[in-house]
Amino acid sequence: MNPSPDRPLTLVGGGLAGALMATLLARRGRRVEVYERRPDPRVHGTETGRSINLALAERGLHALGQAGLRERVMERAVMMRGRMVHAEGQPPALHRYGRDDSEVIWSVSRATLNMLLLDAAERAGARIHFDRRLVEADFARRHAVFEGINDRARIGLDFDTLIGADGAGSALRRAMDAVAPLGQRAELLDHGYKELEIPPTEDGGFRIEPHALHIWPRGGYMCIALPNAEGSFTVTLFLPNRGDPSFASVVTGGEARALFARDFPDALPLMPDLAEHFALHPVGTLGTLYLDRWHLDGRAVLLGDAAHAMVPFHGQGMNCAFEDCVALDRLLAEHGDHETAFAAFAAERAPNAAAIQAMALENYVEMRDRVDDADYLLQRELAAALAARQPARFVPRYTMVTFMRVPYAVAYARGQVQAALLAEATAGKATLAEVDIDAAERAVLERLAPLDEVAEPA
Ligand code: FAD
Repeated sequence: MNPSPDRPLTLVGGGLAGALMATLLARRGRRVEVYERRPDPRVHGTETGRSINLALAERGLHALGQAGLRERVMERAVMMRGRMVHAEGQPPALHRYGRDDSEVIWSVSRATLNMLLLDAAERAGARIHFDRRLVEADFARRHAVFEGINDRARIGLDFDTLIGADGAGSALRRAMDAVAPLGQRAELLDHGYKELEIPPTEDGGFRIEPHALHIWPRGGYMCIALPNAEGSFTVTLFLPNRGDPSFASVVTGGEARALFARDFPDALPLMPDLAEHFALHPVGTLGTLYLDRWHLDGRAVLLGDAAHAMVPFHGQGMNCAFEDCVALDRLLAEHGDHETAFAAFAAERAPNAAAIQAMALENYVEMRDRVDDADYLLQRELAAALAARQPARFVPRYTMVTFMRVPYAVAYARGQVQAALLAEATAGKATLAEVDIDAAERAVLERLAPLDEVAEPA
């Protein structure tokens, strides 16, 4: 059976990527049906009832702009100018992300963003069916079965094409893999995370600097905090799963208080409910998912976390998922048949997803272990000096990933050249005055072409 353009595209998952994808497709006049496992968060609230936030950067903002949502989201976002590093025994120090307030990231509530996207999808004409979990997909008959979580009612649906935006544990991926193996590999990180909270002050203000992403790096582990518009911070504690300290050794609220008293003493007084929250909230797992194939001819395709879940240390999982949506929307409009569009989508996005997955893993070591180390700070100083002298050629990797839409794969490859150059120029040096900046600049001219000659954002 050939797909017919007047039959709907069926999206599995109405989370961040699913709701954006639905909006973009419906705005082009496509018929879009979304099946989402959870009940409607606009009616029933969120699953956890907690404030969880995400860092939104240029790629995500650009995608939201394509859906006409940029301003609406920005009104609810909190600017983060840089990392506020709480090194042990030192006063907090702000390390700016970019040169000024044009290079910042934004903290947004996951729930608010999801609700804005669901509203936008419905306004654009998409139909969203909540409390409908994909349980089976028969690709030979093009027939899918969805189940209600509460009433367990099953409904069958004939489909032309399924788009899987159902997250890291994707049921659609499982069904596709059973028909034609996707070459799936998951690498679990040996660290987990737990979300905690710094509440607002009694008069609704922020207890610490609001315009920063706070980090307490402690070598093998760390804590971070992102501001929420209502004055609180969502704190995420990342710990190994084994050893000491770990989620195996720190289990009770009392043990968590003792860990904070020893390792995060300036954070402890900000968190009056630490012990209670620690005992109540689950430990989340983290990992990277690699697939060799993202689509089943023209019948199904995966995007976002369903195709390439990554560890959260570059704050790019959602940003990358949103970039997927813009790419798939463009390619579906360009190519008449779905199979060609999906093949082009996978060819364009898979190398970029692999690059940001690798950078996200590398960033974990940087955040928990390097942000307060002398070599790293000297390399950052030299990077800033080289970027000032050769702004078209030496663009810090973080800048390419976060403030630009340079393909991730290009950012990754240039980042490797730059890291080698910085390491060579600073080897054995303690201060910038000892570094031969002219020689380092000559190396930049030799090894790095101007960025705009090699990278055009799609
Ligand atoms: P999801 O957001 O997981 O959405 C999947 C949707 O599908 C959900 O609504 C789910 O209910 C639904 N679903 C699941 N199964 C089914 C089914 N069988 N049938 C129907 N529906 C189903 N990214 C950033 O860009 N910045 C950050 O700062 C950041 N911080 C993070 C911090 C942590 C601790 C973690 C774990 C992740 C973070 N991420 C961040 C990554 C980001 O959360 C994900 O990349 C993003 O949510 C992916 O969106 P998605 O729509 O693909 O998947």
